[in-house]
Amino acid sequence: MVKGTEFSKVLIANRGEIACRVIRTARRMGLATVAVYSDADANARHVREADEAIRLGPASARESYLDIQAVIDAAKRTGAGAIHPGYGFLSENASFVKALDEAGIVFVGPPASAISAMGDKSAAKARMHDAGVPLVPGYHGDDQNDARLKEEADAIGYPVLLKASAGGGGKGMRVVESGGNFQAALEGCRRESQAAFGDQRMLIEKYLTQPRHVEVQVFCDSQGDGVYLFERDCSVQRRHQKVLEEAPAPGMSEELRREMGEAAVRAAQEIGYVGAGTVEFLLDADSSFYFMEMNTRLQVEHPVTEMITGEDLVEWQLRVAMGESLPKRQEELTLTGHSFEARIYAEDPEQDFLPATGHLERFVLDLSGAGLNPDRVRLDSGVETGDEVSMHYDPMLAKLIVWGDDRIQALATLGRALAALDVRGVTTNRAFLQRLASHPAFQQAELDTRFIERHEAELF
Ligand code: ADP
Repeated sequence: MVKGTEFSKVLIANRGEIACRVIRTARRMGLATVAVYSDADANARHVREADEAIRLGPASARESYLDIQAVIDAAKRTGAGAIHPGYGFLSENASFVKALDEAGIVFVGPPASAISAMGDKSAAKARMHDAGVPLVPGYHGDDQNDARLKEEADAIGYPVLLKASAGGGGKGMRVVESGGNFQAALEGCRRESQAAFGDQRMLIEKYLTQPRHVEVQVFCDSQGDGVYLFERDCSVQRRHQKVLEEAPAPGMSEELRREMGEAAVRAAQEIGYVGAGTVEFLLDADSSFYFMEMNTRLQVEHPVTEMITGEDLVEWQLRVAMGESLPKRQEELTLTGHSFEARIYAEDPEQDFLPATGHLERFVLDLSGAGLNPDRVRLDSGVETGDEVSMHYDPMLAKLIVWGDDRIQALATLGRALAALDVRGVTTNRAFLQRLASHPAFQQAELDTRFIERHEAELF
C-alpha cells in the first residue's frame, strides 16, 4: 500500500450490496466514486449509484471483476487514486495489491505481504503459533506423505478434520470419524482441493464437536497501532457457510472478550497488518479459544459491529488508507446493545438451496408501515424493485441488520423486519430465516456450528 497518499476519487472493484455500501460512505466523506461492471450488471444498482461507471468485460467474473488489468485500466482512465475491493473477487489477491503498488494506486486494505501470510492456512498457523496465538491441536507441516498424515491423525485422536491448506468457503474440508475412513477421506479432500485451488496440501485438526464460531474485528493503521472492535458470533452456518450473525457473542465474560481481542490484535500485528481484518476463532464449551484463520478484508457481517460500536468501518478503512491514524484508541471504543444480521439469498430452501433467478417485481422494506424504528433497522441491498437477478454471481441480494437494547429485543425486531420485507418475483430464503430467528433454541442462544443440522426437522 502507498502510505499517506491522499485521494479524492475511489473505484469500487466489486458489485452488489457491498459496492453500494462503500459508495454510500465514500460519498458522505466527499469522495468521488467509480463503479465497475460486467455486461450482466450494466444496469445494476451499484452502477446507478456511483458518480461514474466503467465496463470491465463480459458476464463471467474471470473476464470482468477478477480481471486485474481491466480494473487497473478503469482506475487510470477515471483518475481514481484508490481502489476499494469489497469482499470476495480481488479482495484477498496479493498479486492484485502488488500490481496496484506498481501503478501507484492506493489499495484500501492490507499490504500484499500480510495477505500472503494469511492466504495459506498451514503457513498462517505456523506463524500464529510463533506469535503465541492458541491453535486447535493438529498438524500443519510440509510432509504430506500419506503414512505421515495418517500417523498425525492417529496421534491427534478422532474425529479429526481434514482441511485444504489453500482452502476457503468450506471447500476441501472433511470430518474423519475413525482411522479406517482416513485414506478415503484424504483422497476425496485432495481431489476437491486440487479442483478448487490447484493445490493438494492438507492440514489436520482435532474436530471440535460443538464449538462456536466467534470472530474478532481488528483494525490496524500504518503507524503500527491496532485495536479490536469486539466480536461477532457466526455459529449459525449451513455447510460451513454463515447464515445469521450477531454481535456481541452471547455469554462472553469481559475477561474472555479482552483475551480474545488482544490475541486477535497480536495476530494482526505479527504480520504487519494494516486496515480492517477479522481473526476467526473456534470457542469451545469450556471457554478455550483457538485461532482458525484471518480474513484480510472487510467481512460481509461487518454491519453488526457497526451497530454495537456506532463506528463506520468503511470510513475507518478509507481514513487508514489515506495514511491517517486509527480514529479511536482501544479505551475509547464501547459496545452498546445487540445486533443481528440475516443474509437474504436468492435461493430455494425447498430445493436444497438452489440459487434462484428472475425479475424482482418488488423488493421493499416499508419501515414506517411496519412500525419499525429506522435507527434500529438497516437494509444493505444491492438490488431494488425492477432489477434482474442473474445466475452469474453470488446469490446474496441484501443483508437485513437490526439493533436492540438487548438480544431479546433485537431478535424481536429481526422477526418483525423479516416479516415486513416484501420480495416478489424471485424466491428467497426469507421464510427459512424467519423460522431460524423464532426458534426457541436460537432465542435461548444455544449456539454452536451444528445448530442448523441439529434442528433441521423444525427449520425446513
Ligand atoms: P473456510 O476457510 O473454508 O471457510 P474455516 O477454516 O474458516 O474454512 O472453517 C469453516 C467452518 O468450519 C468454521 O466456521 C467451523 O464451523 C468449522 N470448523 C473449522 N475447523 C473446525 C474444527 N477444528 N473443529 C470443528 N469445526 C471446525
